[in-house]
Amino acid sequence: MDYNLSEELKIVRDTARRFANHELAPISQECDRQERYTPEIRIKAAGLGLVGAWIPEAYGGSGFGFLGNAIITEELSRVDMGIGLNIVVAPFGSEAIHFFGTQEQKQRYLPPLCRGEQVSAGAFTEPNAGTDVSGIGTRAVKDGADYVINGSKMFITNGTVCDFYVVLAITHPEAAKKHERYSMIIVPRETAGVSSYKITGKMGIRASDTAEVVFDNVRVSRENLLGTEGRGFYQVMHFFDVTRVMVSAQGIGLAQGCLEAAIRYAGERKVFGQALGTYQLTQAKITEMAVRIEALRNMVYKAAWLIDQETPDYTLAAMAKYLGGQTAVYCANAAMEIHGGYGYIDEYIVQKWYRDAKVLEIYEGTKEAEIMTIGKTLMMR
Ligand SMILES: Cc1cc2nc3c(=O)[nH]c(=O)nc-3n(C[C@H](O)[C@H](O)[C@H](O)COP(=O)(O)OP(=O)(O)OC[C@H]3O[C@@H](n4cnc5c(N)ncnc54)[C@H](O)[C@@H]3O)c2cc1C
Repeated sequence: MDYNLSEELKIVRDTARRFANHELAPISQECDRQERYTPEIRIKAAGLGLVGAWIPEAYGGSGFGFLGNAIITEELSRVDMGIGLNIVVAPFGSEAIHFFGTQEQKQRYLPPLCRGEQVSAGAFTEPNAGTDVSGIGTRAVKDGADYVINGSKMFITNGTVCDFYVVLAITHPEAAKKHERYSMIIVPRETAGVSSYKITGKMGIRASDTAEVVFDNVRVSRENLLGTEGRGFYQVMHFFDVTRVMVSAQGIGLAQGCLEAAIRYAGERKVFGQALGTYQLTQAKITEMAVRIEALRNMVYKAAWLIDQETPDYTLAAMAKYLGGQTAVYCANAAMEIHGGYGYIDEYIVQKWYRDAKVLEIYEGTKEAEIMTIGKTLMMR
């Protein structure tokens, strides 16, 4: 067992950290206030190999694996989770192309993502179905050499800025087994009949683009099928098994940022004639943050490393996602408390991190969904 990062991964971590400090920190507040998406930052990050770092070199990626990608995600989220998302999830949805795509699809779609030239989106959630993925209603009907797609998707990250969507739709409504009714299909955003509407007023990660997407008689070639017809539900479940690890890495970064800000502030702020950090009640909060972060980091790195070794443990990945959300929310709250009244105002960054943190218990599977996944597996063992 070796807990040391390889020299390559140390360089990746340091590169991502420098990039976050120099490029994300100065525009963090402005992007939050203006809900500004940051394509220029994505392109710069791509130049350093930080976009699609999990994509193999054969398809234009850096080949750093899911552990390398988790480390990049952690470092960017330590400064700004929203702008960080614009970098690390620029290829969102395309994990499914990596797992299930044909050689031709991989060659066509993955390299432009790694170069920062294109962006993808994973379109699964609908206005009436999120946790219950099998409750979606979007239909893709075969018509000659095409699919004709109708339906709408909700809360789609990169929804108004992407070049293409990876869409989950019903292709086999007649299948006896409910889970065999779905397929994944690649849909270019510029296709006739696709409309996307930016959702504004999000509580946090406001630099990230979130949208409602409508498909109105959208016609795409049947060559855009991803993987196997009727296997879409299982493919999406496998997709989440892997992408959950990336989301838990956001939790490490955000929580680490909160810890560092809390220690800094507790060292500077004087109360009752002494630095706030000299009081044991404050130290207890800081200690609890540090312990939780260390436990989370170990869990996330292990889950990512196991995926890279092709011996994945998806229950561990769900545990990491669950702990990631909890840790981020706990640490953001503790950092706010240590900052007192100053933590509650816009000038101090902890209020933003407090708002950003909550989404880690919602997207990519709510915390309740993770509990259900973990509990079911434990009961079956
Ligand atoms: C900022 C943001 C970005 C997102 N990006 C994407 C994206 O890129 N692509 C995409 O497809 N989706 C995306 N989502 C959607 C996200 O994954 C869903 O919001 C999430 O899965 C929950 O689904 P829902 O909102 O429909 O809530 P629901 O499924 O309606 O759940 C509501 C509540 O009920 C709970 N619940 C559900 N089932 C049970 C049960 N059996 N027992 C007990 N409690 C239960 C849930 O945990 C939750 O607390 C995004 C969401 C947000 C907020």
